[in-house]
Amino acid sequence: MIKVLVVDDSDVLRKITKFNLKRAGFEVYEAVDGLDGLKKMRELKPQVVVLDVMMPNLDGFGCLAKMRADVELSGIKVIVLTAKGGDDDAEHALKLGADKFLTKPFSPKNLVEAVNELARE
Ligand SMILES: [Mg+2]
Repeated sequence: MIKVLVVDDSDVLRKITKFNLKRAGFEVYEAVDGLDGLKKMRELKPQVVVLDVMMPNLDGFGCLAKMRADVELSGIKVIVLTAKGGDDDAEHALKLGADKFLTKPFSPKNLVEAVNELARE
């Protein structure tokens, strides 16, 4: 089964995302910020990470930069969740090595499609 780690500081968004990804057949795990995310990536070895940008302790950009500089984590596919209006966020995320980005609020269908695409690569 394909493992997906959802890294987001919002309880509500994590729950919604988890619900939709589980329903689509993925094995889903949660992390509450970038630091927690890195720890769980090392433990769980997910194929895909869904990564929020705005988070305490370590934000999505910091987390992504650390992932791409770490041989153990650099192969994980990353979907960055950017805030509406943060036009530079998507560009910044791609520059740091994100595979895809989705702008909040995103549809569950688009998220499932994005995860499916990356999981198949
Ligand atoms: Mg957030």
